[in-house]
Amino acid sequence: MLFIKSKGTHLPEHRGHKELTQNKPPFLFLDPEDVYIPLVEQGAPCEPKVKVGDKVKVGQVIAERTDRFPIPIHASVSGEVVSVAQKMWHASGRMVPCIQIKNDHQETKVETIKPNKVEALSRADIIRIAKECGVVGLGGSGFPAYVKYQTQAKIDVVIINAVECEPYITADYVMMHEHLDEMIRGAEYIRRATDAQRIIVAIKAYKQELIEKVNQQAGDKLTVYPVKDVYPAGWEKYLVQRITGKNYKSLPAEAGAVVNNAGTAIALCHAVENNMPLVEKTVTITGAGLKEPRNVTTKIGTKVSDIVTALGGYADELADAYFIAGGPMTGVALKFDTLVVNRCLSSVIVMPKKVREINPECLGCGKCNEVCPVFLAPIQIKEALEGDDLDLLKQYRPELCMECGLCSYICPSRIELTSNVARAKKKVLESRSKA
Ligand code: SF4
Ligand code: SF4
Repeated sequence: MLFIKSKGTHLPEHRGHKELTQNKPPFLFLDPEDVYIPLVEQGAPCEPKVKVGDKVKVGQVIAERTDRFPIPIHASVSGEVVSVAQKMWHASGRMVPCIQIKNDHQETKVETIKPNKVEALSRADIIRIAKECGVVGLGGSGFPAYVKYQTQAKIDVVIINAVECEPYITADYVMMHEHLDEMIRGAEYIRRATDAQRIIVAIKAYKQELIEKVNQQAGDKLTVYPVKDVYPAGWEKYLVQRITGKNYKSLPAEAGAVVNNAGTAIALCHAVENNMPLVEKTVTITGAGLKEPRNVTTKIGTKVSDIVTALGGYADELADAYFIAGGPMTGVALKFDTLVVNRCLSSVIVMPKKVREINPECLGCGKCNEVCPVFLAPIQIKEALEGDDLDLLKQYRPELCMECGLCSYICPSRIELTSNVARAKKKVLESRSKA
């Protein structure tokens, strides 16, 4: 059984920097010159279904994920395909091939985008629509929503994860204020898609005004579950354990739960009601390196550099900045702003370089061991990995790591612990599968 530290960890900046963006409505940047739609999702390859010169409409299927979780990818603008292999930086920290579409600025939509008679939709219909419209986890996971919904397990509860426990990220918070009705209806469609009994929305307890708004608007359709202001209170396993009292190994369905974040519920609402594919998303573009941090609603495939320009540019010289794709705890550091918005990118943080000076000497302070929610010893794991000592590595059980990023975050020497523990986890799991 996996035990998780019940108290979590109060980060010095646990509410940190959310004030940069949380009180402003989303900035709309919906008409870029070009979009670059990645042909990789969750590390899985996607096969293009269009060729150079094709004219496409908003919502047209242009690619398909080809692993065991097939799901279509749609054009986010109308226009002409100018490349099916344009390499662009991706939130994974790699350059990946993308379908580049030159926007004709006509916003011509496919004919299938039209209202549904939602009352008549069966569970199977909602699952099919979630798949056809490419609804994936928008909180960063990118996991296809329909796979969760079509479980054979008996589901008791739908959990809408609106915790956003990492510093800086406020996209769900802002979207819930702007689109609360859609989130509530989306949650109900998830309940129908899973035959669940009830819906719980998990929100940080200190966001009292949001909790009141949800309670007022939702009535008895759902229950708010306030969570402590600790990290990683929004981690799926932690949340399911708190709400259901059960642990699970692979999927929350084993504990009778299905979890989606608030943005995913809103995307599902648009899909179910109007057959609207996932072609836009709201991303937190923030950090001290920007003149105007904001949540930005934009087309999938938009270059972050274009968004930054539209927001007024950088506070300092670009040469002095670095970028984190995703949250500061779990994201990937990048040197370039030419990364593109993919379907599961939650945020981009622009940091002045001077805040991350690195002294890679371990001080032996033990803080990484203290904060680890699953009681691992990150620095020892890193050393065993570097010593190529597989037997010792197995004893440290890196496979339990949830890649929450706390150890790297807390380390005063800024030692890159998380990625090393993740590599160790992979090594141990691979050695077991070969045995
Ligand atoms: S990332 Fe670090 S703190 Fe988080 S679970 Fe893994 S080892 Fe523990
Ligand atoms: S937190 Fe950093 S400095 Fe402290 S023991 Fe862990 S690796 Fe060493």
